[in-house]
Amino acid sequence: MKVLVIGSGGREHALVWKILQSIKVDQVYCAPGNAGISNIAECVNIKANNIKGLLDFALQNSIDLTVVGPEIPLALGIVNQFEKKGLRIFGPCIKAAQIEASKSFSRYIMEKYNIPIARGSSFDDPDKAIQYIKEQPTPIVVKADGLAAGKGVIICNTHDEAINSVRTIMTDKVFGDAGNKIIIEECLVGEEASFLAFTDGKSVLPLPSSQDHKAIYDNDEGPNTGGMGAYSPAPVIDRIMHDKIMDEVMYPVVKGLNAEGIKYSGVLYAGIMVVKDKIYVLEFNVRFGDPECQPLLMRLKSDLVDIIDACIDTRLDQCKLDIDPRPSVCVVLSSDGYPKSYDKGMPINGLENNFDENIVKIFHAGTALKDDKIIANGGRVLGVTALGDDIKNAINTAYETVKEIQWDGVYCRKDIGKKAVDRLTQIPKVGIVMGSDSDLSIMKAAAMIFKMFGINYEMTVASAHRTPARAAKFAEEAEERGMKIIIAGAGMAAHLAGVLAAHTPLPVIGVPINASSLQGFDALLSTVQMPPGVPVATMGIGKPGAKNAALLAVQMLSIADNDLKEKFKAYKKQMVAEVEAKAKKIS
Ligand code: AMP
Repeated sequence: MKVLVIGSGGREHALVWKILQSIKVDQVYCAPGNAGISNIAECVNIKANNIKGLLDFALQNSIDLTVVGPEIPLALGIVNQFEKKGLRIFGPCIKAAQIEASKSFSRYIMEKYNIPIARGSSFDDPDKAIQYIKEQPTPIVVKADGLAAGKGVIICNTHDEAINSVRTIMTDKVFGDAGNKIIIEECLVGEEASFLAFTDGKSVLPLPSSQDHKAIYDNDEGPNTGGMGAYSPAPVIDRIMHDKIMDEVMYPVVKGLNAEGIKYSGVLYAGIMVVKDKIYVLEFNVRFGDPECQPLLMRLKSDLVDIIDACIDTRLDQCKLDIDPRPSVCVVLSSDGYPKSYDKGMPINGLENNFDENIVKIFHAGTALKDDKIIANGGRVLGVTALGDDIKNAINTAYETVKEIQWDGVYCRKDIGKKAVDRLTQIPKVGIVMGSDSDLSIMKAAAMIFKMFGINYEMTVASAHRTPARAAKFAEEAEERGMKIIIAGAGMAAHLAGVLAAHTPLPVIGVPINASSLQGFDALLSTVQMPPGVPVATMGIGKPGAKNAALLAVQMLSIADNDLKEKFKAYKKQMVAEVEAKAKKIS
């Protein structure tokens, strides 16, 4: 099979590397590619936006499959043009690509299909946009509607700044026609993550979560770039958030597009802002993100071409992804000055060193060959990507490799992956133990409360009857590990809370779960009737019980935490306001 990959960045190097591992593939071409890609595939000098040139090349060379890296050819309709000529190509059609190419279209779809987004509005009249801005609080976000190479989003701290941004985008046209329309949005504060999935328009097959580092300097300071590094998985997207994103974003958008008569096939990327217990979509991309593609493909063990074929043939429901459980990290090396102006032509040293190919890959972005020497030829130059047994280990391996590579003006962020390490090393204040993983749909109601209050918790499964030693060990170690409270959710003869309470001095709250024909009454009695000396606080059956268990835990923790006490008071106030609003509506 002959494959053509379109693009020239680290994403495309990773794609070419991964596609070459497929037993189905004999030859890979890349247009236009870079110096690293030319080591493993044949680069052809056709630009990614030259659709006619790419089409002629694919026809003349009997290309069996074309894989599109960047968004521009997709927005220009490359998929429609290739398909018209009977060529197989991976990516969304021109209409589907609008979900990235037009932020107002994307907002229209999200509003119509109830996908969570920041409050805001689209405008094609600058005066109306300015009037709207004046009525909104600051900071506020101003976005150009069309593609602006990642630079079309301006976060404005004052009304004047926002009004000026409207003028530069809509009147001065700094992003050209991409600024014909504008979007004004509330500024969300939280932690961002990237959620990518394959879809054939019917099924959605998610990749593991990842996180990009957009700003040029450490601690997310300085102007935005194409991405200075990424890692996978992103602990901010735990199992609960993963399910929430699938249910509230990925399935609804694919279904919604279908309802609009648009079949989406390809990679769908949702940029997510996690704000406490809520998620918001910041943007959709219609292709792999770069750099996220690099750590993600390092972890993908399945044959990528099999998955691509299944997407094109609408049989993705038959596929499963085999993912390496080890985390991966990509540190981008750029040239000094990027994302503004930078020098080119500097020879890169160290690439010839022996790196352990099993755990390290150096993907090329802006590189070229000059007199047989690899030179820096772009802003983002290399993506040093490593696997590790844990995230710290992956970070260390990536940065050890980075030390070996030099050129005049090489720069990288020093804190890639730090957010993951910080999150994973936080001490959990609450332990949520479930008798079975089937209890998760109930017990996540407790977890969401802790997310809302910003309280770190740990969730695990341990059965009082099937794994009593595991349950006892968890309880015995909980206090020493810094926990203050344990919540135990179990169904049937729910002895879990009692077993935990017997093995810890910490207070235990039991949540009876409906898991048998007695509808939770059995679990309620087992939890409530404890022998004197082993107290267990007992909550209502099921989800309301799980929620109240968490709220009681918050109240207990707030005895020694005034900030938390204030947050709890605010929560109660909000509850009162919501009831008042409902009462008003009814009367
Ligand atoms: P976008 O191209 O829409 O993803 O925007 C680029 C970046 O701007 C995002 O990754 C965020 O860091 C930031 N951004 C976009 N929309 C918002 C928003 N409503 N609130 C805060 N930050 C935002």
